[in-house]
Amino acid sequence: MADLILRGGAVVDGSGAPAFRADVAIDGERISAVGDLSGMSAAREVNAVGLTVAPGLIDTHAHSDGVLLRDPIHAHGLLQGVTTEFITQDGLSYALLSSENLNSYGRYIAGLYGPPPTDLDMSTMHAFRSHYDGKGCNVAVQAPHGPVRLESVGFQDVPLEGASLAQAERMVAEAMEQGATGFSTGLSYYPNSYSNTDELVALNQVVAAYDGVYVTHIRNHNDDRAPDGSGIVEAMNIGRRSGVKVHISHYRTHPTSAGQVDELMAEVDQAKADGVDVTLECYPYSAAATVPGYFLRGECHVGGIDRLLERLGDPSWRDRLVDSLENLFPGRSDSATWTWIGAERLKHLEGMSFADAAAQMGASVSEMTLSVMRESGLHCGFRDGLPASASLVRQVEADVMALLSRDDYMVGSDGIPFDEGVPHPRAYGTFPRILGRLRRRTGVSLEHLVRGMTSLPATRFGLTDRGVVAEGYFADLVVFDDEAVTDTADFNDPRTPPAGIPYVFVNGQLAVDRGRPTGVLAGRSIP
Ligand SMILES: [Zn+2]
Repeated sequence: MADLILRGGAVVDGSGAPAFRADVAIDGERISAVGDLSGMSAAREVNAVGLTVAPGLIDTHAHSDGVLLRDPIHAHGLLQGVTTEFITQDGLSYALLSSENLNSYGRYIAGLYGPPPTDLDMSTMHAFRSHYDGKGCNVAVQAPHGPVRLESVGFQDVPLEGASLAQAERMVAEAMEQGATGFSTGLSYYPNSYSNTDELVALNQVVAAYDGVYVTHIRNHNDDRAPDGSGIVEAMNIGRRSGVKVHISHYRTHPTSAGQVDELMAEVDQAKADGVDVTLECYPYSAAATVPGYFLRGECHVGGIDRLLERLGDPSWRDRLVDSLENLFPGRSDSATWTWIGAERLKHLEGMSFADAAAQMGASVSEMTLSVMRESGLHCGFRDGLPASASLVRQVEADVMALLSRDDYMVGSDGIPFDEGVPHPRAYGTFPRILGRLRRRTGVSLEHLVRGMTSLPATRFGLTDRGVVAEGYFADLVVFDDEAVTDTADFNDPRTPPAGIPYVFVNGQLAVDRGRPTGVLAGRSIP
């Protein structure tokens, strides 16, 4: 007798193969049988007739490092069918930080993650990962570039070389031995962006020796640090020079490049022809979200958060700070919207456009942005406005689906979930938006889309026995109605749950039952 049998569903097994009708039995934390199980009984049976049974979805890019520690059930991910999230993205995380750096860098990245958990030991990958055992979903990690730099050279604008590079290489190697699946960076964030290409090649030679993956938000600041080419060119060159497997974070067209998928992919396809092993990911929205410090030049950040806050209040820095915002944040700032501000006095600005917030404060948009950063102590984030033309939004969405129809694309929500404010809906709707609304609009096959959300990332990042519905695999499963599944979260009401996803299992335990989170904490740090 099995613990549970899902009866009569259409199994989309994650491999990309056509759906087939089968029963799926769960025993303990694994799938014990798939097929006609009419002769088998179970302690509980779930009628899946008319529903699709697929592997639990894998989010390759989630900024859940903070929220998972405060709200372990993680309903917003589970309700989308996500059973595994990759945290430590963009090289921004608590992992590998000494307690002193956890205190300062934790505050520096609070716009993404909320207040830092300064009572926890994050100093090794082993210790960091232990804090994510027993959450609602499984969690996988990479060694984050920012902490590696901070522990090696401090918050300084110098490349890692000599002794500091040797120390960083040891840190990366140790993290790989303690369960990291690779190395992550975001080369528009600090201190990551102080690196040069040679540093990244050296660190990724270590990653390659462990068969790990280089996960990168490509460089679009400090292009001079990449003398052979910045952006996607640098990422491909790092693959060529180090031999590492490369994974490009949130790579899609933008409203300014809508429709230009071939141009977007030209460099990647050339590198693949040259033998570089490349995968990519994207999320299905035309607007991005981040923290405003992204648009302050490297000189503003040197020394870390306390120095940056001093500069934000120093009249002699005012012109430089304003010039940086106006040059690095052009054309986007007026329509941007504050998503979350961790200062009681400024809460009324959440959900307000930068133009309106500036008018209310009687300041320019740049002055308003700088004063919110200073007064909140960097506890603030924003999202872009949507393009005025629906046709542009729909073109970017069509581009996303064209990218996802390739064999090398996965889905990373880039979600920045907050239980306050007006966050970007991508944290709440990415997966059902693709599987429902956009699939039905564009006709990309369900089997192919599920593969990109399950077996492809599981194989790429070495998540053993996950990502496929087959006997012996972990029972991470999602059951959904392929006609009804859809996102409901939008930019005005971003936290509404998806529809059409009645059941989700994590490691064999029912985590969503008839569309509601059960509260079970069956996830763990994997692989
Ligand atoms: Zn990100």
